[in-house]
Amino acid sequence: MWGRRRRELPDHDEVEAIIDAGVTLAATLSTAERSGLHALVLELLSSKRWEAVGAIELTDEVLVTVAANAALPILELGSGVYRNVASILVQPGTRLSHGVRAGPSVGVVSDEPMPVVGEATPNQGPISVSWAQARADSLHPQEGRNVVIHELAHKIDMADGYTDGTPPLSGTAAKRWHALLADELERAEVRASDAALRPYAFTNPAEFFAVATETFFCTPAVLRDAKPDLYEALGAFYGQDPAARVLPESPGNSPSTSPR
Ligand SMILES: [Zn+2]
Repeated sequence: MWGRRRRELPDHDEVEAIIDAGVTLAATLSTAERSGLHALVLELLSSKRWEAVGAIELTDEVLVTVAANAALPILELGSGVYRNVASILVQPGTRLSHGVRAGPSVGVVSDEPMPVVGEATPNQGPISVSWAQARADSLHPQEGRNVVIHELAHKIDMADGYTDGTPPLSGTAAKRWHALLADELERAEVRASDAALRPYAFTNPAEFFAVATETFFCTPAVLRDAKPDLYEALGAFYGQDPAARVLPESPGNSPSTSPR
């Protein structure tokens, strides 16, 4: 592993051009949200340690694209929920993970080396993401996946010291979230609405929160229509209503998954 700190920040127009070219969801933001995103990108670039893992150069395109995806969930929350994210590691593609983890199927743990596109480490530990995956996810949100948002959702979950699928919530909101988790994960039957989430969501509460968060930002209308209670709970936590945003039509956006 070798890394470097940012020597200087890219200028305003360069940041905007990289976001325009590579971060499809940014086009759905209001003018105020877009300038908030820009400010958060600069803050994340200067306040986090960015490290290259393996054969990749951390160009402005790589840094700004990853930072902009990291900024989307915290447009209203602010960067405080990322206070335990000291470092963001970027690798060219998948790499082998050697830790014990949940999966490959529900209720199973494995310590077999497994190719992963991203990881989140508890406490002050880093996140790591594959640039190939992050770039594809950033361009094609209609696929419903976003490795950067997924790994940072794990860090938000871990912010209170527990990896339990529960973000920092208190009072009624916390009770409501625990009831929702129980309803979604402690049942044997499959519901039609489950198709709105990748099956990996149902591995455990932590993956449920991470996958639900990805879906909330990437295919929000699908999630809102399938699981309105879950959509509303995530909307209350993140302070956003992404289903109300409209993804511009482009050749890359499949009509079947455009917001209605
Ligand atoms: Zn995960």
